[in-house]
Amino acid sequence: MDETTQNKKATVVITYNSVRGYPAGTYNGKNGPVIVYSNDNTETWEDLAEQKLGSVMHGIFGRINPEDIGQVYLYVGLHARGGALRAARILSGQGNKLTLVACDCDASEKQAAARRLGVPLIWSGCGGRRTLGEIVERALA
Ligand SMILES: [Zn+2]
Repeated sequence: MDETTQNKKATVVITYNSVRGYPAGTYNGKNGPVIVYSNDNTETWEDLAEQKLGSVMHGIFGRINPEDIGQVYLYVGLHARGGALRAARILSGQGNKLTLVACDCDASEKQAAARRLGVPLIWSGCGGRRTLGEIVERALA
């Protein structure tokens, strides 16, 4: 394996909603692949959010080698935040570079969670679609 291949770690974006402009899938960027794990809804999943995130997370574990992951961006919304933060703890526990993306509903709780996990927090609008889209765009640039 040559150096350029080794350096190309994946950027992973995880949300139980959707990412604006980037449907679920793998995108090839100059600095490595960007993998979007999302659902194809346009509105926030209410009661289904927890279940949706569960199935998204289920798809990740088994499929990605943690060593191949460079950055993980996880959306933490109003719904399913318990599941999202559990997932965040698992991912950060594996030594991945985790960043939480959150809307400011229950902001103090999310801020406390980011502090507890020792990870940065990026504020977004509810649903996180636009901010996540910008993150993917930057990662691909
Ligand atoms: Zn919100």
